[in-house]
Amino acid sequence: MNYISTRGAGIGERHTFSDILLGGLAKDGGLYLPNEYPKVSADELARWRTLPYADLAFEILRKFSDDIPDEDLRELTRRTYTAQVYCNVRDEENAAQITPLKTLGVEGGAPLSLLELSNGPTLAFKDMAMQLLGNLFEYTLAKHGQTLNILGATSGDTGSAAEYAMRGKKGIRVFMLSPHKKMSAFQTAQMYSLQDPNIFNIAVEGVFDDCQDIVKAVSNDHAFKARQKIGTVNSINWARVVAQVVYYFKGYFAATKSNDERVSFTVPSGNFGNVCAGHIARMMGLPVEKLVVATNENDVLDEFFRTGIYRVRKSSETYHTSSPSMDISKASNFERFVFDLLGRDPARVLQLFRDVEEKGGFDLQASGDFARVQEFGFVSGRSSHDDRVDTIRDVFEQYDTMIDTHTADGVKVAREHLQAGIPMIVLETAQPIKFGETIREALEREPERPAAFSGIEDLPQRFVVLANDAERVKAFVAERTR
Ligand SMILES: *Cc1c(COP(=O)(O)O)cnc(C)c1O
Repeated sequence: MNYISTRGAGIGERHTFSDILLGGLAKDGGLYLPNEYPKVSADELARWRTLPYADLAFEILRKFSDDIPDEDLRELTRRTYTAQVYCNVRDEENAAQITPLKTLGVEGGAPLSLLELSNGPTLAFKDMAMQLLGNLFEYTLAKHGQTLNILGATSGDTGSAAEYAMRGKKGIRVFMLSPHKKMSAFQTAQMYSLQDPNIFNIAVEGVFDDCQDIVKAVSNDHAFKARQKIGTVNSINWARVVAQVVYYFKGYFAATKSNDERVSFTVPSGNFGNVCAGHIARMMGLPVEKLVVATNENDVLDEFFRTGIYRVRKSSETYHTSSPSMDISKASNFERFVFDLLGRDPARVLQLFRDVEEKGGFDLQASGDFARVQEFGFVSGRSSHDDRVDTIRDVFEQYDTMIDTHTADGVKVAREHLQAGIPMIVLETAQPIKFGETIREALEREPERPAAFSGIEDLPQRFVVLANDAERVKAFVAERTR
């Protein structure tokens, strides 16, 4: 398996899975993709139906990472996908499944279900990929005798998933910037209560955008970046995307009895990482009818899938919503899909994403390319705060199930795309406790709290407060990476 950039660099060069694992963008600013998607045969699909999650992950990942010996990869996936790691299940009987499928009921002539992806250590779906990444990074760094210092900015979900995945890992340190006193008490406690010596929580005196600007400034200092071995774990990381392919297969097997059936997935989307994995599963041959992209008020993606116009927003046009992990101004993984949509033409992708930088977007309606979106099964919808509150209340009353705000956006939009005879699977991306304020508004009660998290706000916290100043952050990192 060879990897190429969506903008054309590296065609004719050799880039293995391990080569691109620790990096971010390709050198031409594009995103890495396999030179072709591996296909799953009918025999394989039949054999995979009954595999435990870890072994299914092994079978899928090995198609993308043929430079890692099978026995090593099997050990890594078995260590990652255990009932001990994904232990925050709401129904004990399901613990072994890692991603249990919960059927709510029949709507529109087919079952409507939730695929639980948030039973990991930080109660959001990002654990599904990040936990594997932690083990893959440690394995690859050890092999080459290298170390890595991960620098990131977070307003909640990504940062805590990265910290819980990298804690205690050899050869890795995490420097995570978060806005001082701007996260919920629960999210703050989740991150700052970690006492591992390789995890550094940096509370920046500013807002989330300031944290992101500092990360950008540090990354743009190429000499510093190289000297201090700075890397990132953002959502464009290829291994994260490919790890997410696995649960589309798992969800499909759980919702069907035979491989002649088709299902649809609805995916609460921000940076297009999660639903990009669904696209790849479909390209590999998983019988997927529709991929439904659900956005919140930040509807860059819904606008594209309705009109063919991709128009990134300015930060002043980006809303702070009650499903904050989907508050994006542009969708950083979207370029991977555009590459496929345009028949894998890197010159055109380069031109379009130049237009994004120079003119703020592009229009595929006029060129006729947009018509092909249908062939890929994509449709979309958007949700508002009122929709989210109504959906949380409705699902609770009708099905006795508490869902978080992002999943509520998914259920709201899924209901607009139901088809008789096609099961609809909504990806559950977080547990309600993470977004308690909206749960209280919708249900006038406290969100459910998994046992492991009782009293977490009272634990001692380990963090430093730094001024909103990239130089100060660089000095802090440099002192600790000597
Ligand atoms: C990150 C996140 C999303 C968005 O996922 P993308 O891969 O960025 O599309 C949705 N819901 C929750 C809870 C998240 O943490």
